Amino acid sequence: MRLTKLKEAYLEYNCRYFRNSLPRDTKVLWGVENENCLGYAKRECSYPGIFKTEEAANRAKEKIEKGLIPEPMAKYTIWIHPKTQFDVPKSRPTKVALITLLHEMVHLKLWKKYPKENHGNIFNREMKRLAEVGAFRNLW
Ligand SMILES: [Zn+2]
Repeated sequence: MRLTKLKEAYLEYNCRYFRNSLPRDTKVLWGVENENCLGYAKRECSYPGIFKTEEAANRAKEKIEKGLIPEPMAKYTIWIHPKTQFDVPKSRPTKVALITLLHEMVHLKLWKKYPKENHGNIFNREMKRLAEVGAFRNLW
């Protein structure tokens, strides 16, 4: 697999390992959102104009987190720390960057169903699933 860009890697992994269940329009960027992490995933929900009060927006947010109503306006961004991008001349993400990307994609997958999950059992189970289907082959 030759992956020249992080977004290409994201789309490829989404197809191979997540049945294209993750949003296609996720921004996947080289950047530092949190200096202590190699990668960082963020979900932003916006409620443009349809809720008159903050309270109404918060109620909607709760329903979205519980999966009771869809979240058409959720935007996802994944940042991968540039220090994982060692082979700049080939402009190809390194193995560490790709492992980090898969890690962040697991966060995206679990967000909807398990909004409170971070790196607990559910997260680990999903990482194990990825390992079993060979997502880390040639990376680890
Ligand atoms: Zn994480």
